[in-house]
Amino acid sequence: MNKFLACGVLFMIAILGWLFWPTNAVPILAYHQVGEVDEEIYSVTASQFEEQMKYLKENGYHAISLEDLFNSYTGKTVLPEKPIVITFDDGYADNYLTALPIMEQYGMSATVFVVPSLIGTTDYLSWQQVVYMQERHTEIGSHTMSHVGMNEINAAEQRREAAESKVALERNIGTPIQFFAYPYGQFSPGAQQIVKETGYRGACSGLAGLNDAKTDSYALKRINMPQPKYGLWEFRLRLFRAHLYSKLGL
Ligand SMILES: [Zn+2]
Repeated sequence: MNKFLACGVLFMIAILGWLFWPTNAVPILAYHQVGEVDEEIYSVTASQFEEQMKYLKENGYHAISLEDLFNSYTGKTVLPEKPIVITFDDGYADNYLTALPIMEQYGMSATVFVVPSLIGTTDYLSWQQVVYMQERHTEIGSHTMSHVGMNEINAAEQRREAAESKVALERNIGTPIQFFAYPYGQFSPGAQQIVKETGYRGACSGLAGLNDAKTDSYALKRINMPQPKYGLWEFRLRLFRAHLYSKLGL
């Protein structure tokens, strides 16, 4: 009986060890707004965001771009220890005004997926701010032309949303736009194919988990970062949950 118990305990230790053992897969965080927006689930306050960036720095994480991640798959780039990608969707002005200074303070950088038709409108980045962000090591990506869900439009419209936003961004900021994020996380095999044919190297989805060379490039997984109810513990749990998903192959 004792032998069985000992075997059971050893088995549990082995399983837990395997689950907690670090992976090479890379987390991609998904933020929207950073600021004092009341009751807005998709915004974190400046102090919450600072706490999270401080945690990442103190725990040895290094922010990388999606370009770095993809280049590492072909051996073109060697990633630092504990790489992480920090992304923002929609292109709110507070990404530049509030988040960027905090990230710089902790040696972090981000990828911002902007919507060209929203640029320069109330609460959103101006073209000048998009350029400033890029000059300060922010990777700029596309989030469609008009923030429409890809599953709500036909193939021709999907193609236009992906292609026109790429052209508009490239014309205004002068560098190739390599990555895309699906609005509302919506995608289909057809939309993935169109995004690929339009010339993007990859696209972020709303699927949860971590990413490695085997992850579908046009369904990159992210860790959603809504308004935390339980402070830094929630942030740590979200990171750990994505790690578990990755370990379990979910
Ligand atoms: Zn969005």
